[in-house]
Amino acid sequence: MNIRLYNTLSKKVEEFAPLEPNKLRFYHCGPTVYWTQHIGNLRGLTMGDLIVRTFKYFGFETNHVRNYTDVGHLTGDTIGLADQGEDRMEKGAKREGLSPDAIAQKYIDQFEADTKAINLLEPDFKPRATQYVKQMIAMVKTLIDKGFAYETDLAVYFEVEKFPDYTKLSKQKLEKIIKDAGKGEISDPQKKNPADFALWFFKTGVHKNALQTWPSPFHSKQVESGIGFPGWHIECSAMSKALLGETLDLHMGGIEHIPIHHTNEITQSEATNGKKFVNYWLHNEHLLVENKKMAKSEGTAYSLQEVVDKGFEPMSLRYFFLTAHYRSKQNFTWEALKNAQAGLQEMREKIANLKAPTKPQKTKSEGSEKEKTEFGKALAEDFNLPKALAIAWKVLKDNRFSDDEKKSLLLDFDRVLGLKLDEIAPKQELKNVPENIKLLLEQREKARKEKNFAKSDEFRKKIESLGFEIQDSSQGQKVYKKRTLQ
Ligand SMILES: [Zn+2]
Repeated sequence: MNIRLYNTLSKKVEEFAPLEPNKLRFYHCGPTVYWTQHIGNLRGLTMGDLIVRTFKYFGFETNHVRNYTDVGHLTGDTIGLADQGEDRMEKGAKREGLSPDAIAQKYIDQFEADTKAINLLEPDFKPRATQYVKQMIAMVKTLIDKGFAYETDLAVYFEVEKFPDYTKLSKQKLEKIIKDAGKGEISDPQKKNPADFALWFFKTGVHKNALQTWPSPFHSKQVESGIGFPGWHIECSAMSKALLGETLDLHMGGIEHIPIHHTNEITQSEATNGKKFVNYWLHNEHLLVENKKMAKSEGTAYSLQEVVDKGFEPMSLRYFFLTAHYRSKQNFTWEALKNAQAGLQEMREKIANLKAPTKPQKTKSEGSEKEKTEFGKALAEDFNLPKALAIAWKVLKDNRFSDDEKKSLLLDFDRVLGLKLDEIAPKQELKNVPENIKLLLEQREKARKEKNFAKSDEFRKKIESLGFEIQDSSQGQKVYKKRTLQ
């Protein structure tokens, strides 16, 4: 089946043609490891995971790189003030009284625990920017030699007007970018054009106390040995080249990266290598909270830990992410997450209750092949996971299929959905029933004795909504905790 995907570069849905048959070179911009990643970041990374899984499902050999930015990402970079502000790693280091390296390690560990909890596959490479400074310096040197970059006393800049079609990804007008960049405070009077962006910062001026620095072959009158640190954008260009080559199949990130970060990555890479950098650009939309932009200042930039603290299992977040397309905004509410958790639990119950085949397995029915094709088609049409999830549900509820067929289809689909449907824990009767549940059980028993079945049903639903399940037996009501993972 041919995969069709929306390419930001052409603004069209295109048929995917790999550089090499059945191989995928995929670079996903990873987190800046100075703080806990919020669930909005986790959504973007889950979308990347679903895309990798889709390629694997279709038999591709995937080479997936997701980096860690542990130097050079300034606080101004994402608010339209490129090249300005403080290095986020240093901000984190000051906040916690640790070295930038210890901060990076702490948040890498936390990030890896979070991504494991929502079942993201391990990328093939997880490079840290600080380990590729040599490659970044080599790239910047080439750019100077080729006349695309220049040195000032504060930094080395890429001269955007030297690169034809600087705005091919964002489709913005260069004049407007220059005008907008000129509105802000120009941090460097020697900068030729306000829109030029930094490839290397010297350890001077606002960065004179920078904690992570390296010597370089670049020249500034204010520092010895060109000492300084790389700009954020050059990091991805250098790491992707080192690990995947000069041209990639796919490059992904959040839509906020289109006008600056990814635009600059294309410019640097293509100017250095003289080759097309990326064939297909994918961008995921944002996660909203209560229909508003997530904001740390409003306390809505929730972490996975906060989700767990509210009584949800991490996998319910993954299920929630599956219900919206990566190019759509998704609105997070606690109510929506509750529904996702209930959906996941119901799916587990249904799968766990499927009977093992008693007779030797029949050959697959025509209907089951058809559903498998439909599932594949949904994936191949720009990674339509909500549709794929709906097909999984349709199969599960379809009486034409034997239990065995259902199970084999669902487990096949789960290679992409990643809900760990083969790791469902067996049902266990609860020995210590919580007091509030006991009370509800008594009320239900009373309603049943009075033959008020509508009321008894209400109590059952209430108990279920609290994560429990009741089974009526000759010894009375038995309570089970809803199924979790093994
Ligand atoms: Zn990047």
